[in-house]
Amino acid sequence: DLVEIRTALLSVSDKSGIVEFAGALAARGVRLLSTGGTHKALAEAGLQVTDVSAVTGFPEIMDGRVKTLHPKVHGGLLAIRDDEDHQAAMREHGIDGIDLAVINLYPFEEVRAAGGDYPTTVENIDIGGPAMIRAAAKNHAYVAVATDPEDYGAITEALETGNGTLPYALRQQLAARAYARTAAYDAAISGWFAEALAIENPRHLTLGGTLRQEMRYGENPHQSAAFYVTGDKRPGVANAVQHQGKQLSYNNINDTDAAFELVAEFSPAISPACAIIKHANPCGVARAETLLEAYRRALACDNQSAFGGIVALNQPLDSQTASEIVKLFTEVIIAPDADDEAKAIIAAKKNLRLLTTGGLPDPRAKGLNFKTVAGGFLVQGRDTAMIDEIELKVVTERAPSDRELEDLKMAFAIAKHVKSNAIVYVKDGQTAGIGAGQMSRIDSARIAALKAEDAAKAAGWPEPMTRGSAVASEAFFPFADGLLSAVAAGATAVIQPGGSIRDQEVIDAANANGVAMVFTGTRTFRH
Ligand code: 5GP
Repeated sequence: DLVEIRTALLSVSDKSGIVEFAGALAARGVRLLSTGGTHKALAEAGLQVTDVSAVTGFPEIMDGRVKTLHPKVHGGLLAIRDDEDHQAAMREHGIDGIDLAVINLYPFEEVRAAGGDYPTTVENIDIGGPAMIRAAAKNHAYVAVATDPEDYGAITEALETGNGTLPYALRQQLAARAYARTAAYDAAISGWFAEALAIENPRHLTLGGTLRQEMRYGENPHQSAAFYVTGDKRPGVANAVQHQGKQLSYNNINDTDAAFELVAEFSPAISPACAIIKHANPCGVARAETLLEAYRRALACDNQSAFGGIVALNQPLDSQTASEIVKLFTEVIIAPDADDEAKAIIAAKKNLRLLTTGGLPDPRAKGLNFKTVAGGFLVQGRDTAMIDEIELKVVTERAPSDRELEDLKMAFAIAKHVKSNAIVYVKDGQTAGIGAGQMSRIDSARIAALKAEDAAKAAGWPEPMTRGSAVASEAFFPFADGLLSAVAAGATAVIQPGGSIRDQEVIDAANANGVAMVFTGTRTFRH
């Protein structure tokens, strides 16, 4: 069961150790065949090596897509050495035996992990390599195959002990490793396709994640928890750099994600924006000329709830904003970046976590959301509804003014991130009141107005900010009462999907109060 190694074919993408290994083979008088890049590396090291194209009589074509896919290569790997018919075929077609195949594959896994674009990732699917590996491994009765630089040492040693031969046991082990390798390689390719397709249609989903963090507990101390990452490289809590403070808890991660996804709705090219989150709902969101001002205005909406909250920014944290944030107990700050002065200010607060992400996620990017139910889980595409891509229909006698329209759009974007039922009042680029998570829409409207009154009292303002505001409802008003409650709070403009059988009642109520109302036709429930 000893096989004498006379000819070796070397074709490797990972060229580590290949020159030393090929040198050891050459020293034993093994004839070396090789493909383009590997040939170059070996020849440059001064080794005598024959290009595979000289064997096949066929050049490498199509950027290397076809280089070893030839009967002279595959016949050499697959021929049963003591079968007369096979021997005759070899003689007839001028095929020489290949006794050792040294192959590792195009770095598909690395390119995928690095987030390579679609064509680059596809180009890194190796075709000829796996074909040769599988051929050599199938014929392990006569051929040896090395698929990992880690195998080179054992093969060199065995050749030494066996005086130029390799034993069956080693060839069999190498064949087993070879199929494990091609199976893992194909699994990586099929996993990548499943992921790409599942974004379009969750039916293609294959679940997979890498354990990032084990937590002491979950949402509550008596629940266990862990954090898994999927390899999706979008900027956000999973890919952020944490500059200081203890590990994020389960709730921190959930809330920080909600905060950053919300603030990413507001393009930093238009204005600085800030969102403050508690229990995955915003308690204040604002845009302003400066980040400092955006933070102050977001805080003004409900500075009581903001205590122990998460602050998300759409621009790099600067020192003025940092100095203001540290005045209030805050759990986490997440921003695309932070300057050195800001980092120094945050460093004085040991328990405050600062996360930087290097950018903002694209709110239009497709993705998947999950929710577990007893005995299963639900999957759906991310909510990528964007107000600028929606045609708004004015349904009232009065159309919103430009200022009202700006606030309506902002209120829509925020309502998308508020647990249903969601009512969001916005005035001059800042939330005036937020009503979240109520079982009836009218209660959400009332709570939002009540909070605005409280904020005005606390700040000593003459009237609540809801006076003269714009209001968004993430789903239609089923009755006129919700709209009338908003009118009572002082809203002058309304944005909602429309589509209720009582739409006309709601439109009439708006007209009777001089309110401008637009329909989006797009509902943004969040449960
Ligand atoms: P080289 O750097 O020697 O030009 O290329 C080595 C790589 O090419 C190896 O990873 C090997 O698996 C791969 N390879 C060898 N033959 C073929 C082929 O015919 N088609 C493709 N797509 N890849 C091949």
